[in-house]
Amino acid sequence: MPKNLFPLDNTKKFTDQKHVGHNRWHPDIPANVTVKPGDVFRADCREWFDGAIKNDDSAEDVRHAPLPGVHVLSGPFHVEGAEPGDLLVVDILDLGPVPQEVGDAPGQGWGYTGIFAKANGGGFLTDRFPDAYKAVWDFSGQVATSRHIPGVRYTGITHPGLFGTAPSADLLARWNARERALIATDPDRVPGLALPPLEQGALGGRATGDTRAAIARDGARTVPPRENGGNHDIKNFSRGSRVFYPVHVPGGLLSGGDLHFSQGDGEITFCGAIEMGGFIDFHLDLIKGGMETYGVTTNPVFMPGNVEPRYSEFLSFIGISVDHGTDTNHYNDATLAYRNACNNAIDYLMKFGYSGPQAYLLLG
Ligand code: ZN
Repeated sequence: MPKNLFPLDNTKKFTDQKHVGHNRWHPDIPANVTVKPGDVFRADCREWFDGAIKNDDSAEDVRHAPLPGVHVLSGPFHVEGAEPGDLLVVDILDLGPVPQEVGDAPGQGWGYTGIFAKANGGGFLTDRFPDAYKAVWDFSGQVATSRHIPGVRYTGITHPGLFGTAPSADLLARWNARERALIATDPDRVPGLALPPLEQGALGGRATGDTRAAIARDGARTVPPRENGGNHDIKNFSRGSRVFYPVHVPGGLLSGGDLHFSQGDGEITFCGAIEMGGFIDFHLDLIKGGMETYGVTTNPVFMPGNVEPRYSEFLSFIGISVDHGTDTNHYNDATLAYRNACNNAIDYLMKFGYSGPQAYLLLG
C-alpha cells in the first residue's frame, strides 16, 4: 500500500482531523503535504458533506443539506518544482470506499444519492422535482443496491467527483467578477445562478489570521468546475485514468475529494452520484511548460482508464431542442435537449412501477 500522506479518521469531523483540508479555492491555502514528481502516495477523502447525510429513510437531511460547507477537500499537495504554465500529470492507481472499521460514515458499506430541493440548490430537473429525496445504497464489492429503489442491482465505476489545482490571485479575481456578473442578471432567482464567496462555513486549511479571513471572504466555492479543474463529475475518471491539470501557482497545490461509488453522465440531481468517503492512490508527474506545449490554455484534459462494467445492452433516450410544453422550437439548445432526454427516460421508467423521484434518483 502506498504511504498515506493525508490520513483521516472517519469517526471525526473534517475540522477535528490532524490534517485539516479546505472547502474553498484560494491561492493562499497552505500546502498540507509536499510531494515530488514521480511520487506514489495515498490520500483519504471525506464524503462531500462531511457526514451530514445519514443512513436512514428520511430526506430531511438532504432538504436542509449544509451547502456552505461543501466540498470538504483533501490537500493541498505541493508538488516540488511545479511552476505556472506546467502541466501536472495525475494518475489514479486505485481508489475505493473507506475500509470498514469503526464508524458509520458514508463510504463505510453504504453511500447515498440525493435530489436537492429547489430552495437549496436544486438540480437539472428542479422545476419537475422541486422537493428533496434521498436513496441510500448498500455496497457489496462493486455492486450497489438500494432499499429505496427496489429491484435495481448496479455495478459501479468508482471515481472522484472533484480534483483541481489552486487558482492564481488573478484567476480567482476573474472567477469572482464573472460569477457576480452572472448573478447580477437575475439576483433573486431560485436557485441562484451562481454561488458567490461565503464566509459562513468556509474552511481554509491550516491558514490563520488575516490569511484565513481572506480565504473565507474571497475563496471560490467548489460547486462549478473552472480553469483549475474542480467539480467535473466525469463518471469514467476511475482506476487507470490520467489527468493533465494546468498549474496556476508555484507548487500547483492539488486538492480534491467528493468520491463517488458511481454516477450517471451529468450527475443530474446535483447530488446525483452515490456519494461516499474513501481512499485514493496517486502517481504524480510534471510536464514543464506543458500548458503551452499541448495547448492546454484553460481546462484540464482527461484520459479515462480501461475499467468499466461490461454491460452490453442499453436503452438510449433522445431529446430535441424543443420546449414541448409550448411546442416552441429553440436553436441549438443542447441543455434543453438533454433535459428532454432525461424527462423521456423518467417517463419510460415510471411505466415500470417507479415513482418519478425514484426514476430521477436512478438516472443520477
Ligand atoms: Zn459528489
